[in-house]
Amino acid sequence: EYADEDIDETNYVTRPPVVTIMGHVDHGKTSLLDKIRSAKVASGEAGGITQHISAYTVDQNGQKITFVDTPGHAAFSAMRSRGADVTDIIIIVVAADDGVKPQTEEVISHAKASGCPIIVAVNKIDKESANMDMVKAQMAEREMTPVDWGGDVEFIGVSALNGTGIDDLLENILIQSEMLELKADPTAKVKGAVVESLLEKGRGPVATIIVQNGTLKVGDNIVCDTTYGRVKAITNDQGKPVKELGLSETGNVLGLNDVPVSGAVMVAQDSEKEAREIATTRAEHARAKELSKSTK
Ligand code: GDP
Repeated sequence: EYADEDIDETNYVTRPPVVTIMGHVDHGKTSLLDKIRSAKVASGEAGGITQHISAYTVDQNGQKITFVDTPGHAAFSAMRSRGADVTDIIIIVVAADDGVKPQTEEVISHAKASGCPIIVAVNKIDKESANMDMVKAQMAEREMTPVDWGGDVEFIGVSALNGTGIDDLLENILIQSEMLELKADPTAKVKGAVVESLLEKGRGPVATIIVQNGTLKVGDNIVCDTTYGRVKAITNDQGKPVKELGLSETGNVLGLNDVPVSGAVMVAQDSEKEAREIATTRAEHARAKELSKSTK
């Protein structure tokens, strides 16, 4: 439903990178995401900064970077297989005092399979027991050789506790992003991905969406997998109401008839009727499939 003719390169502009952080549990993924956000979003603007949000955009010296908190590798793989592959760059976080762990190994293979550029954030370098060389050696053994050891992977020492290395990390992301030459068309038919969704009391289904092409506007008729609706309201990553979301931007969208699965592809249709038809047909197919499974 998102055909090649919808892509017109003449309107291409550079778009911000979308970054996913992955790593072994307790190595500091959440802390790092929180620290980057609190360091880079002007205080006051961010409102409830302590509140967990699944995606946000920061400004690094005038250049934007969007971070997505994918709940786990399973979700990451599901998004990829659905074609809602939002990630441009992967950060693997490894605790400097703990080194490579089983989940780190999993993350390495997921990251390699994705083909995205990888940056290693060696976290907790504030700790006395931090050992950067140990981490580098362990990663090098897994074909993740540091640039300063003759390989091609950047290792950045960071501390989600005191903020050391955060600027380095962001600068590095921007360098990788420039090499990727990420382009999209803000005037194209809008396409995006649902990174998280929930049913909110009094508000109905809420979908956190990242825009990959085009511009998502209030009033657009969208389909997210088996759900559809006319966009009633959008709040940005700071909880403020906005009229639209641009390239690589993220926000919460109201107006869907039901809660879409996270990882669903979002596309706009010309009319609400079309959107409803596509979503309803899909929902029926999905139900039929479920039914045939359960009767087998
Ligand atoms: P996650 O499971 O990867 O999301 O890890 P968390 O962000 O929840 O962090 C796990 C624990 O490590 C928490 O107790 C954090 O306070 C601590 N932690 C995270 N980053 C740092 C860091 O840079 N330095 C130190 N000393 N502790 C950290």
